[in-house]
Amino acid sequence: MDMDILPGQSLRFPLFLFGLLTLLSWELARPHHPAAPRRGGRWLENLALAAINGGGIALVCYACFFVAAQDLAPWRYGPFEALTLPLPLRLIGEVVVLDLLVYGLHRGYHAVPALWRFHAVHHTDAELDVSTASRFHLGEVAVSGAAKLGAFTLLGISPLGLVVFECAMLLAAQAQHANISLPGRVESVLWWVVVPPAMHRLHHHPERDLTDSNYGTILTLWDRLFGSLRRTDRAPRFGIEGEPTTPQGVVRLLGYPFRARSPRSPERTR
Ligand SMILES: [Zn+2]
Repeated sequence: MDMDILPGQSLRFPLFLFGLLTLLSWELARPHHPAAPRRGGRWLENLALAAINGGGIALVCYACFFVAAQDLAPWRYGPFEALTLPLPLRLIGEVVVLDLLVYGLHRGYHAVPALWRFHAVHHTDAELDVSTASRFHLGEVAVSGAAKLGAFTLLGISPLGLVVFECAMLLAAQAQHANISLPGRVESVLWWVVVPPAMHRLHHHPERDLTDSNYGTILTLWDRLFGSLRRTDRAPRFGIEGEPTTPQGVVRLLGYPFRARSPRSPERTR
């Protein structure tokens, strides 16, 4: 069952390029809404963050996962180690559980002011396209990596399950941020199963009520189950009310969480 996690993780870069180029071609051929005329600055900013995250913290995290896979193996007696499930069933279970973890983390980033400061960097993008999927502060990448490492160890998630989840999450994130138009019927079906771009587009709307909704990454199930699903018609608008948007420059973005500003009130309850 075990596989070397680092070669598995090295799939990420070719997969990232595949998703980026495929969805960029789709955006050019069939955009959902007209793209902003000058997007070079945004793209540079978002791809620079991708390089920093990919080359720095992510590598440290994967090294941690590698150590955890090898050295913590004797202690990984979580439910997935204890249950002797057939491989496909185990992988599906692990992906679903990790997707729930990421849903919970995402709600946490919106609800806890100190975490929101980091996650807000993602929401300051003035447009939404496939490059937005790379726009994360490395502080957020580190927190998410630590949480996944905890789940990996405590729940006994397999290295293969983690790699499958990471690959699925990467492509799902790129697709849900892409400025692409889908046939109405396809989109209607997706709303019931996996997060379509229209659902995540509402999450990037500056209206607070919409920003604090539609947190899912892969499955729409969690938003349905926990009452955070919103489905409404809105003209595409992106960013955070009262906050500067792109392009700001990578250095300013990295310092963004540490700048003085009026604190965001905690998540409203619905
Ligand atoms: Zn968010």
